[in-house]
Amino acid sequence: MANRSLRAPKGTFDLLPPHSEAVLAVREAMGEQVRLAGYGYIETPAFEDTALFVRGVGASTDVVTKEMYSFTSKGGDELTLRPEGTASVMRAVLEAGLANGPLPLKLWYSGSFYRYERPQAGRYRHFSQVGAEALGSNDPALDAELIITAVDIYRSLGLRQVRLLLNSLGDGTDRPAYRDALVTFLDALDLDEATRARARINPLRVLDDKRESVQQQLVDAPLMPDFLSSPNREHYDTVRMLLADAGVSWEEAPRLVRGLDYYTRTAFEFVHDGLGAQSAIGGGGRYDGLAESLGGPSVPAVGWALGVDRTLLAMQAEDVVMAGAASVDVFAVPIGAAAARKAFAIVLELRRAGVRADLAVDGRGLKGAMKAADRSGAALTVVIGDRDLEQQQAQVKTMSTGDQIAVPLDRVVDDVLTALSRAASGGNKQ
Ligand code: AMP
Repeated sequence: MANRSLRAPKGTFDLLPPHSEAVLAVREAMGEQVRLAGYGYIETPAFEDTALFVRGVGASTDVVTKEMYSFTSKGGDELTLRPEGTASVMRAVLEAGLANGPLPLKLWYSGSFYRYERPQAGRYRHFSQVGAEALGSNDPALDAELIITAVDIYRSLGLRQVRLLLNSLGDGTDRPAYRDALVTFLDALDLDEATRARARINPLRVLDDKRESVQQQLVDAPLMPDFLSSPNREHYDTVRMLLADAGVSWEEAPRLVRGLDYYTRTAFEFVHDGLGAQSAIGGGGRYDGLAESLGGPSVPAVGWALGVDRTLLAMQAEDVVMAGAASVDVFAVPIGAAAARKAFAIVLELRRAGVRADLAVDGRGLKGAMKAADRSGAALTVVIGDRDLEQQQAQVKTMSTGDQIAVPLDRVVDDVLTALSRAASGGNKQ
């Protein structure tokens, strides 16, 4: 067989420098804001028992019916690569007995998720999310806190064109009446058999149908907000009051149902209009019944997941430039083997002093090595030529000005450290 070159699987991609730095920076910005709000970091396995997602995410959802990477392990276990994070977080919390401890529990995660979707711009089979969950409380302050934290994340990343869509989906007290009204309404429509079958499992899902032919028929559909019980309306009102107090604006989205079945009461989505069809850059809501559907006690909770990949696409769409961090501060250019040994030692000493430093390798000549120094983005280059070595000195070149001074080898590290800290404090003054 011909030796076919191996490629990343369909719907996946590699993150390579320098773009990968922007991905890290986005994840870090997300983590920073949730930590400010007191969320602790949680990590769960990339695969779980398939039953967790079937029970947790819901049997009528696209995620469970079409998109799961499920497999039988060599030991006969039915496992699935996680398509989302909330069910795993709840499983971990119940398993560790944390729901019996001090509440609310505030947790955040960052990781890879897997869905067998039709790949297109912004929709991948392997993607990255940062999520935050507040478990063990009914307080609408937590719904508001999470929404505002996400808004602050997008702001801190420089995004201006993010819209917040907000709805309340009710719960076991008021949704059955709404469901009946919706079923009666849907029964009278001209829908294909597949859609009818979906409606029988979860009629709310039909509201989420993207086809124009279906949406046209839904113009007069009954809407959940008109059916909310008074406690649920009060909850929703408080969320909106706290958002308004925080200066956050939103759009009422009475048809927003979200793609996962566990949501109750508050549901929200962040959309960006620069992204085409895959406009959702994050979303979440309350999931007060999830713990019980996993066989646990009642643990009311609320959370969100933000798509890291789509957030970056949104930043590109808005031309937001992440400060492109140079890869190193200092680059050493040794000419010849003896100089290479000395440069290696200097670079190590700089790294141990906390300076990002690198050096030319492969015995590169001066011209090639200086090109590498340029590419590295280093502020300073330490050149050690043959004559320098004889004279026990190095040339320290300031890349921005081209100024170059000879420095005794045993003072290079100290001089470089001084020059860098001078440049840093000079930068701060501006
Ligand atoms: P969900 O778990 O479906 O609520 O998704 C939360 C966020 O994750 C979405 O708003 C997207 O930004 C992102 N996301 C979900 N599925 C994908 C995917 N297949 N590819 C890229 N991003 C995704």
